Amino acid sequence: MHLYIHVPFCARRCSYCDFAIAVRREVPSAAYVDALLTEWRRTLDHEPWALESPLRTIYLGGGTPSRLAPAELARLLDGIRRGVSVEADAEITIEANPDDVSLEVVARWRAAGINRVSLGAQSFDDRVLQWMHRTHDAGQIGQAVAAVRGAGILNLSLDLIFALPVALGRDWARDLDAAFALEPTHLSLYGLTVEPGTPLGRWTARGECRTTDDETYAAEYLLAADRFRREGWDHYEVSNAARPGSRAVHNQAYWLRHSYLGLGPSAHSASGRRRWWNIRDWAAWQRALSEGHPSVEASETLDDAQELLEQRYLGLRTADGADLALVPAPIRARWVDAGWAVEAGGRMTLTIEGWLRLDALIASI
Ligand code: SF4
Repeated sequence: MHLYIHVPFCARRCSYCDFAIAVRREVPSAAYVDALLTEWRRTLDHEPWALESPLRTIYLGGGTPSRLAPAELARLLDGIRRGVSVEADAEITIEANPDDVSLEVVARWRAAGINRVSLGAQSFDDRVLQWMHRTHDAGQIGQAVAAVRGAGILNLSLDLIFALPVALGRDWARDLDAAFALEPTHLSLYGLTVEPGTPLGRWTARGECRTTDDETYAAEYLLAADRFRREGWDHYEVSNAARPGSRAVHNQAYWLRHSYLGLGPSAHSASGRRRWWNIRDWAAWQRALSEGHPSVEASETLDDAQELLEQRYLGLRTADGADLALVPAPIRARWVDAGWAVEAGGRMTLTIEGWLRLDALIASI
């Protein structure tokens, strides 16, 4: 069993972000944790299967969970533990922005049970960070990494965004060097996408910004993949790589289609073929909880075709691949001939070139 907790508050909206967030100067930490714990109790009442096995992972994502007051974060994790048992070596991750991280804060996170930090670095170029509307500068990334390690948390992931507009002059190789120089245990890569309704979407619609072309996207992705190979890293999913032994257990649960519960606005949950998700807007979500209404917005049960699609898509994202039976033989043969896939041990895995085409390959089945 795995638990995701969404914390929607951010100091400002990044130029590319369309997540379910609430921009707040002051985070209503106590009220938020009260609402989450109410939802947790109700969820356990409605989903008694969740009590059958201990939590293997807890993941605080956002938004910016590092903006929650540390005392409230500790109260939240205590409340979660009162509901279910948590494995002794459970992976408990917090996503953090570098400017929220200090030795004192991380020490309090660690005392609350956090043992993994995922730091939103994105780039080591101050001009690029400003363009992204990030609240940190490049120097704060190194300071944050030092604080995380100094407080005794050694499991540390960095997020980086690639495929930025060419006009920005971002040096992707230099950013990869800077990331590896900080010796993280894990890296997550995100190719920039333009979402309508974001500042980037408006800049693009007005012609003020030209997104990168497919060739640059591919070149940057391949450069990162080659770097992982040369460093001896485990490139275990299309967008994630780790030092051997440091895969993200929580993220793997999604790709392995394990059961998980989600708390907080917009959080998703899954059990067997059932999927459900919460009200997206944080104020509406909180109101529903305080008035005794369901905080779940909608649900669905996958039919056979949807389940097959999910098995293929999630399996092929990973280095462990998908069962051969999930992909028709003529398509497999074509992909293997093209160098996009390999077959071994009854499974098919995509190569790096195949991962570059993941969406198109899935669509072609
Ligand atoms: S910090 Fe993360 S969640 Fe918040 S606006 Fe930026 S990208 Fe979105």
